Amino acid sequence: DGAISFKDVHFAYDPARPILKGISFDVPAGKTVAVVGPSGAGKSTLSRLLYRFYDVQEGAVTIDGQDVRDVTQKSLRSVIGMVPQDTVLFNDTIAYNIRYGRPGASDADVTAAAEAAQIGPFIRHLPEGFNAMVGERGLKLSGGEKQRVAIARTILKSPPILILDEATSALDTRTEQEIQAALDVVSQNRTTLVIAHRLSTVISADEIIVLKDGVIAERGTHGELMQRD
Ligand code: ADP
Ligand code: ADP
Repeated sequence: DGAISFKDVHFAYDPARPILKGISFDVPAGKTVAVVGPSGAGKSTLSRLLYRFYDVQEGAVTIDGQDVRDVTQKSLRSVIGMVPQDTVLFNDTIAYNIRYGRPGASDADVTAAAEAAQIGPFIRHLPEGFNAMVGERGLKLSGGEKQRVAIARTILKSPPILILDEATSALDTRTEQEIQAALDVVSQNRTTLVIAHRLSTVISADEIIVLKDGVIAERGTHGELMQRD
């Protein structure tokens, strides 16, 4: 479940400057749809409308047919997981950071999520590299390792819907590929909205929506879009 539908969505932060001018597309349950476009195109705005950081001004965003405006932000957050570009961690253990938002999760589940995200060895460390257990300095987490913490958090939470907002954009090419592989596993069979600025990072998406000047300029699979250009 967790099918998302954007229906003729209009939105402007400033009435004089429309950002989204009639956007319609679906993310079928369990599928991955990527929204690609230049910086400022309104990609992140789409995700903000999904989790109701803002509300649409015209049209609707629905999850399983229900208008998100009829759902509280709190319940939306319980079904939506998010991996942002830069994961900001609390100055507490990695285990604490993974458990955040799921206070009832067992130690075993937190450990399993950390191992699945390949961040297991860091679980008792602090993000800035201070070992909380023995008070020794350790390694400071790299950008890729921070993204692995966000991935572990998602594995633990296991939300039906996942937003990946430029989740690999801040990483170097090699780390980007490693994190992308981990994200591909997490997004499998989960309704996933990917936000990216380059087509090359969303090759495996079921559909790619190209946003330009507030409208959908192109849409199709990666293969289809490459053929047209
Ligand atoms: P993208 O994710 O494609 O880079 P955004 O959705 O973040 O684009 O932003 C789309 C446009 O809306 C940009 O021109 C941006 O400056 C503007 N914008 C984003 N957030 C706000 C805000 N809170 N208030 C006013 N303008 C905003
Ligand atoms: P809680 O689960 O206690 O509500 P948060 O509200 O901080 O904790 O976040 C819970 C989940 O909500 C996060 O794991 C993430 O999936 C989602 N979330 C939090 N902030 C955002 C955001 N800015 N955009 C999209 N999703 C978010």
